[in-house]
Amino acid sequence: MSILKVARMGHPVLRTKARTLDKSELKNPVIQQFIDSMIDTMYEYSGVGLAAPQVHEGLRVFVAMLDPDGRGEGDAVTFINPEILPIGDATVEGWEGCLSIPEVRGRVPRAQHIKVSALDRHGKRFELELKDFPARVVQHETDHLDGVLFLDRMKSFESLTYLEEYSRYHTRQGDEDEADE
Ligand code: ZN
Repeated sequence: MSILKVARMGHPVLRTKARTLDKSELKNPVIQQFIDSMIDTMYEYSGVGLAAPQVHEGLRVFVAMLDPDGRGEGDAVTFINPEILPIGDATVEGWEGCLSIPEVRGRVPRAQHIKVSALDRHGKRFELELKDFPARVVQHETDHLDGVLFLDRMKSFESLTYLEEYSRYHTRQGDEDEADE
């Protein structure tokens, strides 16, 4: 396990569509070590999610701190080849940050309620139904696998804010959206 270097906006890997992983590749210890390193890297930088392209690997893998039931710290969950299906038409705007776009926050509209289907790190298919913040994290990370950054999803740049000004002017108690993804 090791802490991986995070690619920052401008690196072409962040704008490249990542490739699907074959189930058999998950038996490769190199891939398993890579997933462990992604989790370590997410913890190291206090992220709530990290996608493989953010650490220079064009693979459809991301890790996220998820607590699908709502309250609590959550656990690191690994998603391989994720597919998202929105449930209903509701979208919500919320603050996002990104380890690849340091010190910046912006408001991004996302589907409020989704179903995500993926393989776990052992190749077993699982499905999760997520709402609000966990749904936002999964949409942000899945976008990274398609070379999309949260800035691309903003309706306007009016809310774009440096972290210091965000902390000063834009946080309210109860917000759970301070973390980078
Ligand atoms: Zn990100």
